Amino acid sequence: MSSTEIDLGVSFDNSYANELKGFYVSCEGDKAPTPVLVKFNQALAEQLGISNRNAEQLADVFSGSEAPLGSAPLAQVYAGHQFGGFSPQLGDGRALLLGEVLDESGQRLDIQLKGSGRTQFSRGGDGKAVLGAILREYILCEAMHALGIATTRALAVVTTGEPIYRTRYLPGAVLTRVAASHLRVGTFQYFAAQGEEDKLKQLADYAIARHYPELKQSQQPYLDLICAVRDKQAELVAKWMLAGFVHGVMNTDNMTISGETIDYGPCAFMDNYDANALFSSIDQDGRYAYSNQPAMAQWDLARLAETLLPFINEDSDDAIAQATDAIKGFWDVFKSHWQLGMRAKLGMTTEVEGDYALCEQLLESMQAQAVDYTQLFRQLALDLSSDSADAETLFSDPSLFILWKALWHERLKKEPLATAERVTMMNAVNPIYIPRNHLVEAVIEAAEDRSDYQPFEALISVLATPYTLQEGKEDFSLSAPASFGKFTTYCGT
Ligand code: AMP
Ligand code: MG
Repeated sequence: MSSTEIDLGVSFDNSYANELKGFYVSCEGDKAPTPVLVKFNQALAEQLGISNRNAEQLADVFSGSEAPLGSAPLAQVYAGHQFGGFSPQLGDGRALLLGEVLDESGQRLDIQLKGSGRTQFSRGGDGKAVLGAILREYILCEAMHALGIATTRALAVVTTGEPIYRTRYLPGAVLTRVAASHLRVGTFQYFAAQGEEDKLKQLADYAIARHYPELKQSQQPYLDLICAVRDKQAELVAKWMLAGFVHGVMNTDNMTISGETIDYGPCAFMDNYDANALFSSIDQDGRYAYSNQPAMAQWDLARLAETLLPFINEDSDDAIAQATDAIKGFWDVFKSHWQLGMRAKLGMTTEVEGDYALCEQLLESMQAQAVDYTQLFRQLALDLSSDSADAETLFSDPSLFILWKALWHERLKKEPLATAERVTMMNAVNPIYIPRNHLVEAVIEAAEDRSDYQPFEALISVLATPYTLQEGKEDFSLSAPASFGKFTTYCGT
């Protein structure tokens, strides 16, 4: 790193580097041949207090070529269950935590580079990332944020000028990711697998102080930590389900302790509703298919709970019983969030017996009907406001849906809201615009093949206000044309 470090105009306050020695290795980014800042998230930069607007300096910093003043770049170590199999050592193979800053509301946030070069944890990988995958993560995570779903954020995209070999040579790029932290279930698993109980406890205390400070006073802080992460993840996965989002790689190293969505590799939103929706080329068994997501989150949480058993109870049988109860509680929390969200999507504000079944029945009527999930909910509100029945036309065979709609209309009679209010409420939670796969792919192609970032900017702009109808942007609300075919995502991004 250069001795004249670049000042971003923000003060770093690096708790991970300072408090968790032995949990990382210090390292440097590679020098990019010709770093160019192709996207900078001004609003997020302001939130973080970054005042430097010199594009060249930002490109140097956010490619990993130069360390910003006050940073302490490092690669974190972690382990993880990947598709059910345990890898005792993963770690940041191509990521570099520059450090932490306190944002305008005092929240501590990590600033991390992804794709800045090899680290001690790279194993066989090149430590790099390609532009298409970086733009994809930028679009997806910022769309999730605009939808109101907890997620890591994207601050910058820098092209490095270095061609990176995947199945062919592609432009290299670095993403700057901002996160509440990069603590993962896999971070706990690493120290548990090493048998390093002291470090494990230190990690748990750090996680509590950083994410769940209210638990410091608890009689059972480590059991409560499990419950707190469980509750956050249950809410998160409920929101994914409600939005039609398939994460695609819910390995324990990709589950955050903070409850933010992380790792936008093989994820995708579904167009047509399908309980078995699956996009990842490497998930042959459908382990992380759409409807498996809650069960997989619970499985991951059980892996977290296992690591904390020694601190829950001296009697290991009692510890297991207490942790098991905590993990079993996942379903109730998940269901209550899902139910609340689905009620809102359907314009229902009160709780009536049978609502859960009613919501499930809607999904059943949608299965294998080639009905666009996002469009349907918006159409339901439109039909209410105009007294029309166009939602039917979205189904290849609407017979089950028509039966369901009659039940729903009956149910709505028990609601206090007037129709206009109901429509407003539904429109506030049912997006018009999601990052549809064919749109994202077109954006990537334009950037990769023609260095044309205009389609990327246009898509980002539409997705920033997903619940508001935007003049002349109808194309962004349509499902993929038939010619787009079945969408598949690939790892090795
Ligand atoms: P992911 O599938 O992105 O969650 O990554 C799983 C693990 O592989 C993490 O430890 C990554 O840091 C590492 N990894 C992924 N891609 C690369 C790469 N190109 N070079 C080095 N390590 C990588
Ligand atoms: Mg990952």
